Amino acid sequence: MRSCCISLLGSTGSIGRQSLEVIQACGMKVGALTANSNVARMEEQARQFQPKLAVMMDEQAAADLKVRLADTPVRVAGGLEGLLEAAELPQADTVITAVVGMVGLRPTMAAIREGKRIALANKETLVCAGQLVTEEARDFGAKILPVDSEHSALFQSLQGCKDRGEVKRLILTCSGGPFFGKTRKELEGMTREDALQHPNWSMGAKITVDSATLMNKGLEFIEAMHLYQMPPEKISIVVHRESIIHSLVEYCDNAMIAQMGTPDMRLPIQYALTWPERVVGPATPLDLCSCGPLTFAQPDTEAFQCLALALAAAKTGGTAGAILNGANEAAVALFLEGKIGFLDIADRVRRAMEQVKVIQDPSMTQVLEADAAAREAVLSA
Ligand code: NAD
Ligand code: MG
Repeated sequence: MRSCCISLLGSTGSIGRQSLEVIQACGMKVGALTANSNVARMEEQARQFQPKLAVMMDEQAAADLKVRLADTPVRVAGGLEGLLEAAELPQADTVITAVVGMVGLRPTMAAIREGKRIALANKETLVCAGQLVTEEARDFGAKILPVDSEHSALFQSLQGCKDRGEVKRLILTCSGGPFFGKTRKELEGMTREDALQHPNWSMGAKITVDSATLMNKGLEFIEAMHLYQMPPEKISIVVHRESIIHSLVEYCDNAMIAQMGTPDMRLPIQYALTWPERVVGPATPLDLCSCGPLTFAQPDTEAFQCLALALAAAKTGGTAGAILNGANEAAVALFLEGKIGFLDIADRVRRAMEQVKVIQDPSMTQVLEADAAAREAVLSA
């Protein structure tokens, strides 16, 4: 098996913890761990995995961790500097980007410039700056491997495809989220607690809300465009409530190749680390005879307007992705704080998209400006 040493950004989160299960089961090494503020969990992880470096984004948390790990050889750092250091760690050949939100952009770019393999969970990075990120990866010979289950399924279904011209379309499956089948009227009163109940996956709060609004599928649509260099008209979305088929590729001869499995993120995480090889791992096997019938339906972009907004941003291109994502991050944060209602998320994102001007072929500075302007538009609405 490919031997690897991993720098894990966002180790205390849902993807971070499942990554550590894979790392442990497959006997891989950990070079660095980073988190925002959960010191207790980081201490536990650092003692177990003995990284060279442990980073807390929050400086107070970093100071606290330093005291807690004083009897170990683990070096502790804090803030964005620490996060960048973890992304560039010379001992690590692979960086898992499992932080949530656009804060992942700078460390991802830093790791790319060091030519590391990027196991990318942090989809916000590609939505904001997909063109810049993929160009930089090409220039520095850094491979970006998808961790997102749909994109891993597409990647697996594309193995052996030598000519992308043979691909008729990529089909992203979508669970429909906890509010599948509800009308706009019914969605109006949905609370934070309702939105945090996902039928098939247990994930961080932000992506769980994105799954309830279907913004997650919109972000994934843009992520797929950048990962596979596909125009929007060659990508479609189908609702598949059971989350057994993780996505499909339809070829020009009308063959459809899909990847199936239980809804278990440890499989796509592991494949991003071991590709092009496969190894025995901890993911739960699928029992075809007990998984029940598989169903498919059209997504409802009328009720779930976040999805419609994301598809519009995908078509517009340029900084539209950064505006969409920045506005959504700000609006979801307000929703989680109980300051706005469920349908207000789409309303605020729409307003930001109307207010902030789109620039084509943006520089990194223009991407960051678009993100900031979109957040401002949401907060001042
Ligand atoms: P999470 O909230 O459970 O974990 C986020 C991690 O990032 C934590 O370790 C946290 O400490 C860290 N973090 C948060 N804010 C930070 C900041 N400002 N600076 C530095 N670190 C910070 O989130 P998650 O569900 O694990 O998702 C992580 C990423 O993976 C997201 O981009 C999400 O869209 C993507 N993703 C998640 C899943 C899933 O099943 N959870 C599936 C596909 C993609
Ligand atoms: Mg996904």
